[in-house]
Amino acid sequence: MSQEIDRRRVFFALWPDDALRDRLARLSRELRANGRLVPVAHLHLTLAFAGVVPAPVVTRIATDANRLARPAIRLTLDRLGHFRRPRIAWVGPSDAPAELDALAQSLSGICRDAGVAMDDRPFRPHVTLRRFVTRMASGPIEPIAWVAPEMVLIESGRGGHPGPYRVLQRWRLA
Ligand code: ATP
Ligand code: MG
Repeated sequence: MSQEIDRRRVFFALWPDDALRDRLARLSRELRANGRLVPVAHLHLTLAFAGVVPAPVVTRIATDANRLARPAIRLTLDRLGHFRRPRIAWVGPSDAPAELDALAQSLSGICRDAGVAMDDRPFRPHVTLRRFVTRMASGPIEPIAWVAPEMVLIESGRGGHPGPYRVLQRWRLA
């Protein structure tokens, strides 16, 4: 029992400010879709999902992230979409800036270097608006400009089980 490892479910994300959060919450309510709204406090754009890792790995990836170049990231959320298999409705950029992709790749690299098995699927930047979606009208929307003020490391839930998010660390992007 004394050898039980402290495990945490963590991911890096872009974190909207309150104004954008409100805007996204409104958008999620107005969607022509079924499903369940993501809580306003959870709205984010995942950059790199480390998953369930031992606590020392969390410390290491947070420390390594301090060394990254963190340029300002300007993106335009202009498209609603539906990922059918995970059954989510999302909003995202139809054309993502190179800086966003570079940041996501760097963070994945940091996680890999710390021994985390990362997903190899291509990075598809999106903000999840609803879950359990089986019907949805996808397509373009009036563009929402997002100059991301910060990147965060989030712990989801406790002990490796998903749940309410907690910001473990924040980094300004400028
Ligand atoms: P819940 O799972 O309780 O419904 P959640 O999906 O918000 O809530 P997590 O499962 O901890 O919480 O996921 C946190 C974030 O990481 C979400 O944006 C989720 O889409 C993303 N994510 C989860 N699993 C993966 C994965 N295997 N690869 C990439 N991103 C993932
Ligand atoms: Mg999940």
